Amino acid sequence: MTVFTVAIDGPAAAGKGTISKAVAAHFGFAHLDTGLLYRAVGAKVLSGGDPVAAAKNLTPADLQGDLRTPDIAQAASRVAVLPDVRAALVQFQHDFALRDGGAVLDGRDIGTVVCPTAEVKLFVTASAEVRAERRFLELSSKGHSDTRDQVLADVIARDKRDSERAEAPLKPADDAVIIDTSEMSIDQAVASAILAVDQVRG
Ligand code: C5P
Repeated sequence: MTVFTVAIDGPAAAGKGTISKAVAAHFGFAHLDTGLLYRAVGAKVLSGGDPVAAAKNLTPADLQGDLRTPDIAQAASRVAVLPDVRAALVQFQHDFALRDGGAVLDGRDIGTVVCPTAEVKLFVTASAEVRAERRFLELSSKGHSDTRDQVLADVIARDKRDSERAEAPLKPADDAVIIDTSEMSIDQAVASAILAVDQVRG
């Protein structure tokens, strides 16, 4: 059995998703976007559900559909402050990290709480303006009508809530490699993440 965990954390729209998918594909590891779990719970709450019950009873079907909307992102960060929601979701993430063949998990607390012993920890970040611009382009290409200013305000509000919460706040693990993608292309960001993994794998 080969266990090798890459933990990738960072604020909203820093490029974690793109980097995580590329790292997983490069090394043949499985990938889990843990933000989707919180988004699925947030979506259930928007349609009237109880957050803790939703987290405890999440099914793969709940992860389907378009969960990448601004409303669901904010709802996700609101349910993510609840310790019982986090507790209900942590075991699945932990088991995923230890699966045979290697795993990449991306989120906010992977290197600090979910997988503190991960072989590689990356913290992917960028300025709020750069992240908002990327998210704005992504949302407008999908037909969302939010303005640049709205997207920037959403990103800042979510960063603040995620960083200031008592339970598993967003922050780099002490031993994380920081990758600031503000001035990097996607290819450069992916290459620096792969390099960081290669340095540990040897
Ligand atoms: O990564 P994504 O933007 O999809 O995450 C949505 C929200 O879910 C985040 O703003 C955060 O509040 C929460 N989250 C979290 N812990 C994780 C992943 C996501 O609290 N590991």
